[in-house]
Amino acid sequence: MVVVGGGFAGVGCIKRLAREDGVTVTLIDRHNYHQFQPLLYQVATSQLASSDIAFSLRKLFRNHENVDVKLGEVAEIDPSARSVTLAGGERFAGDALVVAAGSRPNFFRTPGAEEHALPLYSLDDATRLRSRILEVFEAADRDPALLDQGALTFVVVGGGPTGVELAGALADLIAETMTIEYHHLAVSAARIHLVDLGHTLLGPFSDSAHDYAAKILGRKGVRLHLGVAVSEIGPGHVSLADGATIRTRCVVWGGGIQAPAVAATGELPRGRGGRIEVQPDLTVAGAPGVYAIGDVANIPGPDGQAYPQLGSVALQSGAWAAENILADAAGKPRKAFHYRDKGIMAMIGRGAAIAEVGAHRHELHGAIAFSAWLGVHASLMTGVRNRIDAFVDWGWDYFTRARGPQVLDRPDAAAIHWDEDLVPEREPAATP
Ligand SMILES: Cc1cc2nc3c(=O)[nH]c(=O)nc-3n(C[C@H](O)[C@H](O)[C@H](O)COP(=O)(O)OP(=O)(O)OC[C@H]3O[C@@H](n4cnc5c(N)ncnc54)[C@H](O)[C@@H]3O)c2cc1C
Repeated sequence: MVVVGGGFAGVGCIKRLAREDGVTVTLIDRHNYHQFQPLLYQVATSQLASSDIAFSLRKLFRNHENVDVKLGEVAEIDPSARSVTLAGGERFAGDALVVAAGSRPNFFRTPGAEEHALPLYSLDDATRLRSRILEVFEAADRDPALLDQGALTFVVVGGGPTGVELAGALADLIAETMTIEYHHLAVSAARIHLVDLGHTLLGPFSDSAHDYAAKILGRKGVRLHLGVAVSEIGPGHVSLADGATIRTRCVVWGGGIQAPAVAATGELPRGRGGRIEVQPDLTVAGAPGVYAIGDVANIPGPDGQAYPQLGSVALQSGAWAAENILADAAGKPRKAFHYRDKGIMAMIGRGAAIAEVGAHRHELHGAIAFSAWLGVHASLMTGVRNRIDAFVDWGWDYFTRARGPQVLDRPDAAAIHWDEDLVPEREPAATP
């Protein structure tokens, strides 16, 4: 078997296949680690270290002789041969090909977004964002006049879980850590703006969760711009469709996802978000032996609607695809994917979380939801060592209110041209 991608879906699939005698698996990933995306925002806001949320793929499968890990970028899929070709030209083929290549950001053709906004979809993104956040504080500390250029103004695009969690954590970082560590800087001038085209935060959650998230973020000083589109992003500003211009040097993009480029190769059927359309048993129509799972796939639910791009869907679809591959090999029928919905949750900064538990969405807020969040995330993380490290970091943060790894290690993301006034000629109708 050949599996492209060692995220939740790919790992879920291989863990099941690896237990089977006579099965050999080649896992190909552009990274040598499995990353835990739900906690990227904590790396970006210096709560967790990068190593807490990344786990070596080789280590993960070191006790499975039948799993071979290859580091490489898959450039092309050939469904008819159930093979893939890497950017370097190497080719890998199998009896089954599983595409589990995840997502990439979707900037929805917003002018300037790809060039100037910082997405949050990979560990690389998280470390770049961390460096940018730290650099704007350092720059403002060297020269407080930069506050007029929006040095301490942060704009988060997207009111889904990624944007809400990041905005909450950033507000805590500023209020609890930066105010103490940057004694000579007017940290109270810092502003966080959250912009979303929709009229509510945390779309997939209930109405009371929408209100709870808005209340908590409001309390933390986050200014909400709901029902407003971002019309343009430049090196020193964000323009909104309502005419406002916000001066900023740090724009975070959590505005949406789409399928990665590799999904467009091999002429596989594609649908919403450029994702690969699969049949209920996770196979691709017209491509025998080819499966697509997790974020890269539009997996139809019982009502015909595609399941959302969630870690739990990815993990379960991976294990399910493995069962179907084994059934195929044994000459048994494949089964339609059945998703066990255990609920959804989001953390909106210190002690404030929302959990909607089970398919009936029993709603929890505050400390109970926070405890549930801790338990679920710790149990989903890969590796005992990572869990212990994360708990030490969380505990340290909770009791001392001092962040851990405030490491400015990405000069590429921290390089900012402060000498130019980068706000466009058009003066703002209103400057929030
Ligand atoms: C910031 C953020 C927060 C989130 N929070 C939550 C949450 O709280 N709860 C939840 O359930 N879900 C959450 N999600 C969604 C969840 O993380 C994803 O649904 C899940 O990671 C999808 O798993 P996957 O295996 O399909 O893809 P991924 O985890 O993205 O893995 C894809 C893998 O494929 C590799 N890859 C991609 N293209 C290639 C290529 N061409 N060649 C080689 N390798 C390649 C990548 O390196 C990666 O390792 C969050 C996502 C993000 C970005």
